[in-house]
Parts: sequence; C-alpha cells; structure tokens
Amino acid sequence: MNIVKVKKLNRQGKEIELIRFTMSETEFRDLSNEYSGLCLFCGETTECGVEPDAERYECEGCGRDGVFGVEQCLIMGRIEFEGTN
Ligand SMILES: [Zn+2]
Repeated sequence: MNIVKVKKLNRQGKEIELIRFTMSETEFRDLSNEYSGLCLFCGETTECGVEPDAERYECEGCGRDGVFGVEQCLIMGRIEFEGTN
C-alpha cells in the first residue's frame, strides 16, 4: 500500500492536503476482512475494530476523527487500485 498526498484548494481557496491510498485489490480485501481503518488526516492504519463502512473514528496516530473503514474510503474516492495486469 502506498500513501499519496495530494494538494488541493478547498472552498475558501486555501490549500489543503488530501491523503489517498494506492493498493492492490487483494490488499483492499485483506484490510476489509481484518476490519482495518485508514486515517484520512495522517495516513495511519488502524489494525482492527473498524467496520468497513465506519466513519470518523478517532485515530491513534494523530488523535483526530479521521479514521474511516476501507469500503467508505473507496466510496469517497480515497483508494485507488494499482494497475491490474
Ligand atoms: Zn490520523
């Protein structure tokens, strides 16, 4: 899994940093099965206890409510699958 940081302008015209994840479909399935979550603020992976559709759980890494389930991250466009051969 790779973490990509993307700079974007928000509605107020201020530059913000978004985090995106690149992974294979196998990695995605594993994360989903293990109830892992991803923090959209710092990129930290929460190992377990995050339902795939969870939203805004507290992150152990940065302390903000940025942990989302992997299915939810996919719906939000934050996960991209690596090139399938
Ligand atoms: Zn975090």
